[in-house]
This record gives sequence, structure tokens and C-alpha cells, in this order.
Amino acid sequence: MKCTQCGNTSFLKDVDFPFDNSEGARFARTYKIYVCDQCGHVEHFYTGPVEANKEIQQLEMEFKNATAVTKSELNKLSRKQSDMNSKAKHAYNKETEKLEALISDESITVALHKKAKDDLAELKNYKFEQKLKMCGLSLVDYPDRRQIASLQSQINRQEKEHQDNISNIKRKYRN
Ligand SMILES: [Zn+2]
Repeated sequence: MKCTQCGNTSFLKDVDFPFDNSEGARFARTYKIYVCDQCGHVEHFYTGPVEANKEIQQLEMEFKNATAVTKSELNKLSRKQSDMNSKAKHAYNKETEKLEALISDESITVALHKKAKDDLAELKNYKFEQKLKMCGLSLVDYPDRRQIASLQSQINRQEKEHQDNISNIKRKYRN
């Protein structure tokens, strides 16, 4: 900064009256007053953008902390869900391949061939719960879809609220 009167660049800072009505105000006005230490000319600077940044950074930190638990819970459930899905799928595919190999094997007995065909037909009708059972898992342990949806909507809500808060700060400090 430069003194508009004499061009000097050294100032006495924040002399007596930094003006700040940001506390609770709808439209905040924050000024810092500098006095030229050579000619005494008073300069004031609008510090709104700096204050807005400070508040936004604080908000970002709070938002991150507030959503951390929900996000990690959601990740845990999603990971468990996809882990159980892929295990069940793998077990099902393996069993299908085994039976198909048996069926195409010409050296087995007719009875065995028929049994393999019946088993395969039955396998194709397996519900998800039965596929889980094939690899020693139970539907009881499968993450609840409603719980996942509720966590997701909770995060969405927090996200929206956070964006609103940021817009409010920007509006409040708009010059
Ligand atoms: Zn000056």
C-alpha cells in the first residue's frame, strides 16, 4: 500500500478504530485504518474478503469434522456390501463352472450326468441369500440398504446446508 497523499509506504497500523460490524450483521463491513507515519494521512481498507475467507475456512473445517464419522460409516458399509457381493458371485460362478464341466464330461455315468444337470438347474434359481451361504456368509450380516440410504441422505443434507452457509458468508461480506 501507498499513501495516496505523499506516496510513503510505511503506516501506523490499526490506529484505534478498526471498524467491524460483522458480528451478527446481515451485511458485514470491516475496515482497517492505517495512518501514514510521514504525513498523517488516514487510509482505510475494506477487509471483507479476508474476513470472509477466514470464516469459510473455519466452516470447511467444521464441515469436514462433522461429516467424517458419517462418511467413514458409509464407506465401511459400502465396502462390506461390495465385498459380500463379489464373494457370493465368485462362489456361484465357481460352482456353475464345476457343474458345467461335469455335464460336458463324457466319461461320467448317466445318473451322475443327470444329477449335475439337476443341480445346475437348481443353482440357476438360487436367491442371493443362498449364494451368500455358498461362501459361508449370511444375509443377516449384509448391510442394510435403508441404513446406507439414510447415511447418504444425511451427508447430502449436511452438504447442502454447508453450501448454503458458504453462500451466506459470501453474501454477508459482498462489497
Ligand atoms: Zn503520507
